[in-house]
Amino acid sequence: MVNGELTIAHSLLPHSQLPIHHSPLPLRPMSEELKKDTEERSLNFLEEIIEEDLRTGKYSSIVTRFPPEPNGYLHIGHASSICLNFGLTKKYPGYTNLRFDDTNPVTEDTEYVESIKEDVKWLGFEWKHERYASDYFDTLHGYAVKLIEKGLAYVDDSTSEEMAAMKGTPTEPGRNSSFRDRTVDENLDLFARMKNGEFPDGSRTLRAKIDMAHTNMLMRDPVLYRIKHAHHHRTGDKWCIYPMYDFAHGQSDSIEEVTHSICTMEFVPHRELYDWLIARLEIYPSHQYEFARRNINYTVTSKRKLLQLVTDNHVTGWDDPRMPTISGLRRRGYTPDSIRDFCERIGVAKRDNLVDVGLLEFCVREHLNKIAQRRMVVFDPVKVILTNYTGDGELLSTENNPENPEGGIRSLSFNRELLIERDDFMENPPKKYFRLAPGQMVRLKSAYIIRCDEVIKDGNGQVTALHCTYIPESKSGADTSGINVKGTLHWVNAADAVEVEVREYDRLFRVENPADEEGDFKEYLNPDSLKTVIGFAETSLKEATTADRFQFLRKGYYCLDRDSKDGKLIFNRTVTLKDGWKKA
Ligand code: ATP
Ligand code: MG
Repeated sequence: MVNGELTIAHSLLPHSQLPIHHSPLPLRPMSEELKKDTEERSLNFLEEIIEEDLRTGKYSSIVTRFPPEPNGYLHIGHASSICLNFGLTKKYPGYTNLRFDDTNPVTEDTEYVESIKEDVKWLGFEWKHERYASDYFDTLHGYAVKLIEKGLAYVDDSTSEEMAAMKGTPTEPGRNSSFRDRTVDENLDLFARMKNGEFPDGSRTLRAKIDMAHTNMLMRDPVLYRIKHAHHHRTGDKWCIYPMYDFAHGQSDSIEEVTHSICTMEFVPHRELYDWLIARLEIYPSHQYEFARRNINYTVTSKRKLLQLVTDNHVTGWDDPRMPTISGLRRRGYTPDSIRDFCERIGVAKRDNLVDVGLLEFCVREHLNKIAQRRMVVFDPVKVILTNYTGDGELLSTENNPENPEGGIRSLSFNRELLIERDDFMENPPKKYFRLAPGQMVRLKSAYIIRCDEVIKDGNGQVTALHCTYIPESKSGADTSGINVKGTLHWVNAADAVEVEVREYDRLFRVENPADEEGDFKEYLNPDSLKTVIGFAETSLKEATTADRFQFLRKGYYCLDRDSKDGKLIFNRTVTLKDGWKKA
């Protein structure tokens, strides 16, 4: 199943754009083609419905809502729902509410409410009203009383086990509870006493009186209210009965006059109950539409599972840069634009779909390539000594971003002793090796052409330094040397290079769909998801802030981590570069 789904997700990418991890094929810049794909994309099924509703005058403007349960931080799957709900009211007249579905007092917390608001804003969206299902507890209670008065709800004294036993199966009808035929007065009295706290948790419920033989199991007298003596993060101890999801969600939509209530496919069977309740209560007729969940591979997207990773210390917190949470992606260096682009590309479907994380990485590379400042950092250095360099050092100038003419320039300090990557040198190179080798020339980025004359080694045969000659007439931008070289290397000045810590992240899990594997999903964690290395950076990186985005030349995209302290810079690797260099 997983493989079939992946094929679909992959088909979103032209073959040559398959993510680097999954394909040995070289990556070509084909973003124009991809962009065209997106621009020419036909309307999704929700846009079609909305355009029809606007055309026929059913609505003159629309209202959607994003309804998170504040029991965890938002993840990349939620981003799809956010982009969809808010995106529709950006495109069409209307607005979107942010509604916290806070009907479960036990798992919810204001920390989560705050993080959700921050994430939605960061993604670039503004809600019209901030609402809470708990704002409606009084109204919902009134609705319940109304149903009782209409003879459409009853108090049941059965335990949850007894109710389950009477529920029947998809092929067998259920049985009526012996409490089903209580009088309206008796039900009103018992419901009032439930509310007043006279009964312990689980001893009674309020159920809708529908049909215990209904083909839709959810219509077999669903529970509307349960007793729970628990403190609620907003209503405190006012209530000891709480509405069930099905009695809160649709009614909240209706109170807010939501026109298009968009949720994920698992709620398809709930739609019948959603409509039944709205019709019987004679309230505003919101309509529910469903789309497929969007999940990415090599991770888990369920708040409950992500919470386990946090509480069991498999990660450092909800915003650990390996987490698929919005806050984790943000700390990792993802941009809101790249996440919106990703959601746009995967689109809206009716079939569940595991999307390749490579598409997300592709989107962030696309954006960072445009905005990231270029910097040079050497990770595993070997010293280059320019034997004919007699000066005192000099300042060279280089552009911050060749993709952006307004990116400005910065200076680089250059001197007699430099650092280059150890693996940019080979003592006995194969043919067509364009990096540094004895007798061979390369250009140092934005500096000079150098030639390697002599290899210095220690007693173990390890290369400790390369004695080189630099060509004074070959200065970048003013090169009169007439020498053509094929390789350009990044470098830093040995004397003032800044030592930085770099956190390199890999997938959090070893398998594509850990939630689908046998046993506990945590057994499939990738033990090597974090590797910490040291780098030597050009001095300008001392000024980095967490808002900056960098490309370390020939390495990848990075951002400053908030763990950095004065004198100790820590960078997160957002994503590697699609690096044609290694193959060359
Ligand atoms: P989780 O299992 O992670 O807790 P949830 O569906 O219970 O997910 P909610 O807070 O209830 O989380 O979700 C808020 C909204 O986001 C809902 O409309 C839900 O359908 C949608 N949503 C959640 N996960 C995804 C996903 N993977 N893809 C698309 N939409 C999602
Ligand atoms: Mg939920």
